[in-house]
Amino acid sequence: MRKTICLLPGDGIGPEIVAEAVKTLRAVEKKFGHEFVMSEALIGGAALDAAGDPLPAATVDACKAADAVFLGAVGGPKWDVLPGDRRPERGLLGIRKALGLFANLRPATLFPELAGSCLLRADTAAKGLDLIVVRELTGDVYFGKPAGQEVRDGQRVGFNTMIYTEQEIERIARVAFATARKRKKRLCSVDKANVLDVSRLWRAVVSEVAKDFPDVELSHMYVDNAAMQLVRDPSQFDVILTGNLFGDILSDEASAITGSIGLLPSASLGAGAPGLFEPIHGSAPDIAGQGKANPLATILSAAMLLRLGFDMEAEAAAVENAVHAVLREGFRTPDLMPASGGAGFHPVSTTEMGDRVVERL
Ligand code: NAD
Repeated sequence: MRKTICLLPGDGIGPEIVAEAVKTLRAVEKKFGHEFVMSEALIGGAALDAAGDPLPAATVDACKAADAVFLGAVGGPKWDVLPGDRRPERGLLGIRKALGLFANLRPATLFPELAGSCLLRADTAAKGLDLIVVRELTGDVYFGKPAGQEVRDGQRVGFNTMIYTEQEIERIARVAFATARKRKKRLCSVDKANVLDVSRLWRAVVSEVAKDFPDVELSHMYVDNAAMQLVRDPSQFDVILTGNLFGDILSDEASAITGSIGLLPSASLGAGAPGLFEPIHGSAPDIAGQGKANPLATILSAAMLLRLGFDMEAEAAAVENAVHAVLREGFRTPDLMPASGGAGFHPVSTTEMGDRVVERL
């Protein structure tokens, strides 16, 4: 199959880790007889330096023309002094908006080989953790109007509006049900329907959509309980569906408990537009250019691209299995080395880790 990918390496460790994912995609291309046509465009600080704009129009055009967009990371201290609208992060928000990406999918997986880095009690970690948070990305209290600050009765007040239309709820619910259908067929919708009107609408619409997915088991949970259950027994979850605000918090919580920020991928999807695939971590300026960055989150993002962007399940699974294999064999970038020392492990650089994955493929 012939597919086009627009690469946005970005800043800091971005170019180093994207290079390893490209190596992996080239290996997949060869093994499975595909043709991936890859082009590169500027975003973030790199785009500011070269073109004075964190998201040049040429980048938006290149992304829209591609079958999928693959991002490293943006940002760094060099650009932190710039005003908000000229910060590298604007490039990221801008491209999500330009592509109409409304669904953010973040798996949180505890690799058995790395159970020691899990922040949970050993008996809880032993039950495993393999869930995915489907977060709505374009609505909710982050974008609702009215919003602002003003003086009322002589004192300052701040306000935001938590709002969802039924159409916004329905389209994200459909993504979540479809995701659950490809996994263990269990969907937990998280809201605050005991207090919030918007959550009561959320719950009603999600329950309506459920009728189209009779093979998926739907449950509802209040967000405060979900936050607690995630640390008490995360093994109970398969797919978690939630709004923008609750999803922001829960997806960070779910990934933090795995203890390995350098291992977690993500996907953002829209209707018909190319999806955007990226690791959840940032540009790690503290280790950029030193060969210390862990490329596995980026390589696993490439696996998500194959599965969700190109519908290539066998290819995605092959990449994931290769990652598991190198971890099982003890290869570790510095972030994965146990604090107690590395006896029995093989320390590797960014490029060596990419090479090992390609070998296993
Ligand atoms: P960060 O994720 O870049 O780094 C946090 C810590 O994790 C650092 O110690 C870093 O060295 C480490 N780390 C991150 N990724 C790693 C990897 N692949 N391998 C090994 N170690 C890794 O977060 P931060 O320090 O808060 O932010 C740095 C810059 O990244 C900021 O400019 C921020 O705005 C930006 N940022 C960008 C994105 C994005 O592009 N999606 C996301 C978050 C932060």
